Amino acid sequence: MQLREIKKIFHKELDESYPKEEVDSFFYLLIEHYLKLERFVLALQPNLVITKEEEQPLFEALSRLRLQHPIQHIIGKAFFMDMEFIVNENVLIPRPETEELVYWILDDCQVARSRDLKVLDIGTGSGCIAISLAKQLENATIYALDISADALEVAKENAVLNAVKVNFIQADIFNFENELKFDLIVSNPPYVREFEKNEMHKNVLNYEPKEALFVSDDSPLVFYKAITQFAAQHLNSNGKLFFEINQYLGKETQQLLQEHNFSEIELRKDMFGNDRMLKAIFVDILS
Ligand code: GLN
Repeated sequence: MQLREIKKIFHKELDESYPKEEVDSFFYLLIEHYLKLERFVLALQPNLVITKEEEQPLFEALSRLRLQHPIQHIIGKAFFMDMEFIVNENVLIPRPETEELVYWILDDCQVARSRDLKVLDIGTGSGCIAISLAKQLENATIYALDISADALEVAKENAVLNAVKVNFIQADIFNFENELKFDLIVSNPPYVREFEKNEMHKNVLNYEPKEALFVSDDSPLVFYKAITQFAAQHLNSNGKLFFEINQYLGKETQQLLQEHNFSEIELRKDMFGNDRMLKAIFVDILS
């Protein structure tokens, strides 16, 4: 069949459920993944014909897309900070907002790049934050924690895939005892309230790990409380805490940090204009 015919079928089947540009982008990702064809191939060879065998994975992917499977699960990978990450149902798919958080951290560490910073990522999931920091902050020692053994398995594979060293720890942040001190702690913990589920797409709701996403309506900041308390004990004086946050809870999260002796608290918006990340400095009044 002609490749452009297949593209037409993709639009016919999917345009009701996804924006047209997203369907284009699914199609091009799939031909690149399965057939190693670049996205401009149709411009150069508009009548390109592919074999029945080559068609098959594309049509299989199409039926999964119709069932709202995330494209990243179909191709088994996601792109984050220009790097490839293996993803599956055990980890959250890396989001572009989280890239913005990583850029902020890198910007902020510009002068300290050559220092041996000790960094901890709490709730690492696919490892995307920890691994991209390890890649960029060459002298840093990076630790990454998650409660889920299945998530850590993926994160470890991702560290190998991207050729970095990260020290992975399986632990529950609600009772994690440890002597280590850090210069920087970062976390993108679960923050979506149950009642916010109706704002979410089926491909997130049905296929991404609930324990990485949701918190109860009455205590949406549980993870932020535990992490802030942990950070207040495990950050060196003037150490930094970075959070990705629920866009509707910027004020409340800021206040939580103030109550725990954090200062220079800065709230930033993501590319969609939503309050999405926080930075704070820990001032140890005892030292
Ligand atoms: N930003 C993610 C989403 O809305 C949520 C990430 C999280 O809960 N940490 O899908």
